[in-house]
Amino acid sequence: MCGIVGYIGDKKASDVIIKGLKRLEYRGYDSAGIAYQNGELQVKKGKGKVAKLEAMLDPNENATAGIGHTRWATHGEPNDVNSHPHTSTSQKIALVHNGIIENYGSLKKVLQNKGYEFYSETDTEVLAKLIESFLENGENEFKKAVQLALAQVEGTYGLAIIHADHPDIIIAARKGSPLLIGVGKNEMLVASDASAVAEYTDQVVYLEDGELAVIERDNYNVESSDSTSLIKEVHELAMSLDEIEKGGYPYFMLKEIFEQPKAIADCLRGRIDPEKGTVTLGGIADVMEKLAGAKRLVIAACGTSWHSGIVGEYLFESLVKIPVEVEYASELRYKEPLIGEGDVMIVISQSGETADTLAALRQAKENGALVLGVVNVVGSSIARETDAGVYIHAGPEIGVASTKAFTAQVTVLTLIAIMLAQYKKSISDEKAKKLISELALIPEKMQQVLDKSENLREVSNLFSYAPNFLYLGRSVSFPVALEGALKLKEISYIHAEGYPAAEMKHGPIALIDDMMPVVVIAGTNHTNDKMVSNIEEVRARKGRIIAIVTEGNAEVEDLSEFSFSVPDTEDELSPLLTVIPLQILSYNIAVNRGCDVDQPRNLAKSVTVE
Ligand code: GLU
Repeated sequence: MCGIVGYIGDKKASDVIIKGLKRLEYRGYDSAGIAYQNGELQVKKGKGKVAKLEAMLDPNENATAGIGHTRWATHGEPNDVNSHPHTSTSQKIALVHNGIIENYGSLKKVLQNKGYEFYSETDTEVLAKLIESFLENGENEFKKAVQLALAQVEGTYGLAIIHADHPDIIIAARKGSPLLIGVGKNEMLVASDASAVAEYTDQVVYLEDGELAVIERDNYNVESSDSTSLIKEVHELAMSLDEIEKGGYPYFMLKEIFEQPKAIADCLRGRIDPEKGTVTLGGIADVMEKLAGAKRLVIAACGTSWHSGIVGEYLFESLVKIPVEVEYASELRYKEPLIGEGDVMIVISQSGETADTLAALRQAKENGALVLGVVNVVGSSIARETDAGVYIHAGPEIGVASTKAFTAQVTVLTLIAIMLAQYKKSISDEKAKKLISELALIPEKMQQVLDKSENLREVSNLFSYAPNFLYLGRSVSFPVALEGALKLKEISYIHAEGYPAAEMKHGPIALIDDMMPVVVIAGTNHTNDKMVSNIEEVRARKGRIIAIVTEGNAEVEDLSEFSFSVPDTEDELSPLLTVIPLQILSYNIAVNRGCDVDQPRNLAKSVTVE
């Protein structure tokens, strides 16, 4: 949530910052702003997107240092005044912030009593004034004032700060919100996400919680919270520009839907041997014994990742014969969870920065559990803090509505389940071999689904203005129903609910009438007969059935008003195929309704606040 970019070098800072903000805009698009050094600080900011900010800039300025922000508002409505950067009273300090200053109310009161005036409703403005309060009597220099201010702050922050009297430095600090330094030649960048720096350098330094960096054109110095200078590892970014551009597609989401065959092929590469029937995941090889001895497995995640976690639950229970609980990471911490030694937690997060998931992982580690990560972004906080893990290798996901990360997460969970089941001998060689050889065919079968996606046009057009949708599934198709409903809600603002098909009778069936589209995911062969009965129940009440079926399921096709078939596969792998038509259905409907598919209202990618 929120994008931060700072630049100091020999280029025109505002050009680099605007480009970076455009790449980060998926992280928040309530407002955008920039501050740069031009003798004095110049600040331009306002409600709306980065393109609007760009039009406000003076084409003739040539500042070579500055900071910028795209906001996802937590405190205070999205308007011009609440936009970042926020400035100090003297207008000499400007800063951009990602996170929440939880004690901003009390800090604000103290500062107001000292005569400071506040103009915005944000938590962030307090920081600019607090830093200035430590500079006022001249006792402290800039860095010291920042450290003193941060020592008083409760909450989370990723920060980039500039001062008019110190035009040759940017100060960056992190606690709970991601931040990295892009190390260039005679230029440095600071950003909340690597995609903003990838065009300029592939060398990055990740800041850890509590660290503060003083960044100059040709140097940076990172200090720990006790002011010890640190020697930081420089990581090489493996991110190509093609991956973070739309490549001819109208929206990132559509590009990412169509990238799924490649994403899954990348995810499987070097990890399966269909001939021998083996799975090799280097990231968890060292913890297999511990994993195999686990009493139970707790999967913690949010949003779409939580849905892939439920698919994981079915897989681990049926293949590994281990009890599994799937928890919302945001709730887990408030349940005083009985997680401890002997338990294994798997945390799932596309960005690897999801604040609640990170908090759940820290708590589980503290209690002595082994924590594995299933993460997309290499080097992200979750990837660094887990004991072991498996990257999903889906490539950057920029569309706010997650698509390829879901299928890649499910793929990785399937791989872990098979590897563990083989290790524990809870699965027959024959079954393992069948699953692995079917997994190898998934990219090709996904392509077959995508190749006929135009067949969803008619049903998308017919139901684009339905006020409600119901999604039903059983077994592993149930989380697919949840995910299908979430996709529709997120990008088209249609109210949708996903239910286990039989649960429909315990409430939602009351909603069904001849206006109600009911999407039935009939992708699992072993539940087909029961699904047929549920379809009949909907039909008896004149509900409009849209069925996702496996090829050859004439029975369900005949019962449905619309049907779309996907190639047959093992039941356990069917979510990888059945979810794709649901993604496309949501996409088509959102476009028909004129919605901004990549930047749906109120949402932002990567939820880095709790
Ligand atoms: N809490 C700050 C605000 O509401 C920062 C939000 C963000 O991370 O974009 O302005």
